[in-house]
Amino acid sequence: MHRLTPYIPGEQPKLSHLIKLNTNENPYGPSPRVLEAIQAELSDALRLYPDPNAERLKQAIADYYGLTPAQVFVGNGSDEVLAHIFHGLFQHPAPLLFPDITYSFYPVYCGLYGIDFAAIPLADNFTLRIQDYLRPNGGIIFPNPNAPTGRLLPLADIDEVLQHNRDSAVVIDEAYIDFGGESAIALVNRYPNLLVTQTLSKARSLAGLRVGFAVGHPELIEALERIKNSFNSYPLDRLAIAGAVAAFEDRDYFERTRQAVIASREALIATLQTLDFEVLPSAANFIFVRLPAWDAAALAAALREQRVIVRHFRQPRIEQFLRITVGDPAQNAALIAALRQILAGG
Ligand SMILES: *Cc1c(COP(=O)(O)O)cnc(C)c1O
Repeated sequence: MHRLTPYIPGEQPKLSHLIKLNTNENPYGPSPRVLEAIQAELSDALRLYPDPNAERLKQAIADYYGLTPAQVFVGNGSDEVLAHIFHGLFQHPAPLLFPDITYSFYPVYCGLYGIDFAAIPLADNFTLRIQDYLRPNGGIIFPNPNAPTGRLLPLADIDEVLQHNRDSAVVIDEAYIDFGGESAIALVNRYPNLLVTQTLSKARSLAGLRVGFAVGHPELIEALERIKNSFNSYPLDRLAIAGAVAAFEDRDYFERTRQAVIASREALIATLQTLDFEVLPSAANFIFVRLPAWDAAALAAALREQRVIVRHFRQPRIEQFLRITVGDPAQNAALIAALRQILAGG
């Protein structure tokens, strides 16, 4: 056990007066219809186990994306879905491929499940070069948009990766896709080895409810169900199922809030550039930035003194960058005010 290196989540501070731009939560609350659905579920029925297959939720997700429920797997957050994927689909002699700069849970799961992996360097501008993924492998996984860079790979490039990798599982982790990308769910009917994972934690404002899902060919979904049912056959509780179904039904609220975040992102980028920040292109609800005149760790510490928390990764290649979650207009204004004060020297 001492050899395991666990994932380190971003801080969840106890102090409520902090402006929390460090873990990519949505600045807007969930849809009021989600809250109503959860309240309606608060009854004596809680003494009963939930539906082990979360059929209502699978149907709601299938309806939303034009799939069948047999193409949908659900879990307690996409982290749990990813754990089952690593456990069940990535244990091969050939290495699993993922980028060197990416979601830091991937190497953690490789350690837990004893999976050999190769971390493929991103280009200098942090783009993913698809030609690096055209070699023998025991699976491929990357987020799109990537984390923590925010950079998006066009769907045509994912299609090309799939055309050259027919025999291993290819997993696209779309935690942030609703903030500006085109989902690879459009490709699942063409590639039986493709799995696309998504979460309700980011664009649907439900990080606290813990719901994520994967879509793909029914045989891959069936494999994940076998793993899940050998581990914990009741993954989603009654409240989570009710809330998640309502989240997919309220399309208007989803559209409004995600467009608001996208608009805030563009405004925030424009303002930061006037303060001499370098900002990577982002299709996510966060931005990856660098202020050449400042050490990133020092800047994060200075921001914290101004009550704004952002994420800094002590990792080669990115230690001079900060990942900043896009807040609502008031939070973003507070960030900018804090930065102006820091840069003015006081
Ligand atoms: C946030 C995130 C997840 C996990 O989300 P859950 O809250 O566990 O659903 C997965 N992948 C990436 C890249 C993320 O940023």
